[in-house]
Amino acid sequence: MKENCIICSSEFTDEIRVSARDVNSLKLIRCKSCLHEFQASDDYKDIYTNGSFTKMARSGFKVPPTEKIKSLDKRAISRNKYFNHILTNFKNTLEIGSSIGSFVNILKLRGIKSHGIEPDKDYAKFSNRQYGFKQEATLLEDFSPSDKFKSACSFHVLEHVQNPHRFILKTSELLEEHADVLFELPSLDLHYYGDYKTNYWTPHIHYFSLSSLYYLFSPYFNIKEIGFYGSAVYIHANKNSNAKFEQKEFNRLLKKSKLIRRLIKATPSIPLFGKNKAFIKQLIWQPILQNNTKKVLLKYLRKAYTYTIADWNYLRVERKGSTGKKAFHISYFNLWENTGDTILSHCVRNNFNTQFKQKWELKRVTEPVSTQTISSINKSKYLVVGGGGLLLPDSNPNNISGWQWSISKEQLQEINVPFIIYAIGYNYFPGQEPSDLFKKSLNELISKADFFSLRNIGSIERVKKLIPNEHHNKIHWQPCPTTSIRQNFKNLPKKTLIKKNAVAINVAFDRYQLRFKGNMHLILIELALALRDIHLKGYKLYVIGHLKEDFIFSIVLKSLDIPFKEKNLQFASPEKCFEFYNNVDLVFGSRGHAQMIPFGLNTKIISLGTHNKLKYFLEDIDAVDWFVDLNMDLAFLRECIVDSFEKIVEINKTHTEDRLIQKQLELNRKNEENFEVINRLIN
Ligand SMILES: [Zn+2]
Repeated sequence: MKENCIICSSEFTDEIRVSARDVNSLKLIRCKSCLHEFQASDDYKDIYTNGSFTKMARSGFKVPPTEKIKSLDKRAISRNKYFNHILTNFKNTLEIGSSIGSFVNILKLRGIKSHGIEPDKDYAKFSNRQYGFKQEATLLEDFSPSDKFKSACSFHVLEHVQNPHRFILKTSELLEEHADVLFELPSLDLHYYGDYKTNYWTPHIHYFSLSSLYYLFSPYFNIKEIGFYGSAVYIHANKNSNAKFEQKEFNRLLKKSKLIRRLIKATPSIPLFGKNKAFIKQLIWQPILQNNTKKVLLKYLRKAYTYTIADWNYLRVERKGSTGKKAFHISYFNLWENTGDTILSHCVRNNFNTQFKQKWELKRVTEPVSTQTISSINKSKYLVVGGGGLLLPDSNPNNISGWQWSISKEQLQEINVPFIIYAIGYNYFPGQEPSDLFKKSLNELISKADFFSLRNIGSIERVKKLIPNEHHNKIHWQPCPTTSIRQNFKNLPKKTLIKKNAVAINVAFDRYQLRFKGNMHLILIELALALRDIHLKGYKLYVIGHLKEDFIFSIVLKSLDIPFKEKNLQFASPEKCFEFYNNVDLVFGSRGHAQMIPFGLNTKIISLGTHNKLKYFLEDIDAVDWFVDLNMDLAFLRECIVDSFEKIVEINKTHTEDRLIQKQLELNRKNEENFEVINRLIN
């Protein structure tokens, strides 16, 4: 029996078969009246509450892997930016199908009271561990809160539900009159810019056109805006008991749906930059359909420039070194890395360039090690690995070495040139235990290396516990080369001792379940209030990004109306970074390199600690008084931050400067001592 359209009840429907992501042939019903496509209602199975969806779409992980969390966070940040004009009106919000709570988290950081419901129990529960708030594990259909909400949002959920009408009706019942809603879902009109196969997927029951989406919402909501975001369609609407379907508006959207489909179909498919065929269609149509052509094109251009020309120019100079026979350097070296990594890699080579003559062959730590790699290493003058927190299991997870450079035991033995492990760090968080493979590889590495150095005493103590006594005195202390930038770069701009009245802050948001121990929101608010106090004393505030995600903290400052500027250092050259850090009075930082780099430039620092490695560094320079523990009693956090700031920048200004320079010189002496050893190895 032929089914009527589930959205507009039209009888004019066809049964079609399409090829999908997961099956060769998926049976669908296509409505000729509103263009909606859907799977027949008797084929519906609830795969969400029993975890089958998790198994299917989330590769069976009960808790999402680190990469997945990162990508969910990134997407939440992008949505926050793109939908900012809509979200400004949001109050007391319900997110329907909130996954691990990444977007609820952003809303909370904006100061919006918000609640997430998510049918998958494990994902719902995960928010508590990750962000420090609870979500309800329930389907919308079974959700019965005591109070109504003032707004609601939902991202990529509506296409999964059995009956959209029931779902939207239920949503509207949970809302106060005039409440805002924002729904985002895959767009059938765009069909992933011509990638039809990706568009169709068994868990997606519904495929919405502009017109079918309008038909669905119009009886309950006044539609404010229907638009596109990437390959998705979104709708912004207000609940209104008198809302009604308007034939004229429906016809307009129907025409628009048809036109967009024709345009995308007619655009040629050319495989470009190694992307799939749909990429060029997206490149052309996305900016136009999103109504932000200029912005998107500029973004593309900037990206293309950074990843190709700027990076290439930078590396051309880096590879030249101080000329001579080539040496081999393994690190994170590109211009577009986390700022700390780019600068660190640059500083390591600079140290060697001031001592020896060599060109550089650069290899990324994460690149697989091949026979070719080893043979190339053996043709070099020597090999340097580092610096950075390379003794860490989760940035480049592998079963070959258990740490970041995935070199096997056999390959390690084949290296026959001087082998220097330079200023690396042990970056396990408290509670993370190294594996047996890690310990074994670490031992082999220390035996093999001609010079093995760690960047702080704390790392040395921890590593000593993992290796036999006979190796203990093989470990050298090599301070991170960023901590003595001023001693080793000749053409640096001068550090003036006159106050600039500028303060910068960098807050890292990777692994934040470990950094904030579930107390993130309260900690960030206290931190922001402390910065407001500092701002009121006459200081300009800068939020620095070593990575894009670092700007999450801006959301908190904005929500509290605290004035600040953003400074993205991720794609900046080392010179530009040096210039910026040189021109501020003090840097608050929770990333190691947001502390070590300014220190190396004679800029005062306060470490916002949640991680041992920050404290390790401060212990090495007898400056634990420049540390504020973010996990301290919250009642005192704000006061403690302002107090420390006043002591360091105002009350003890000259004394702090003297201490800093004295310690920097000490670190650099260590640096030079080590080069006496390295010099004997290389020459
Ligand atoms: Zn229809």
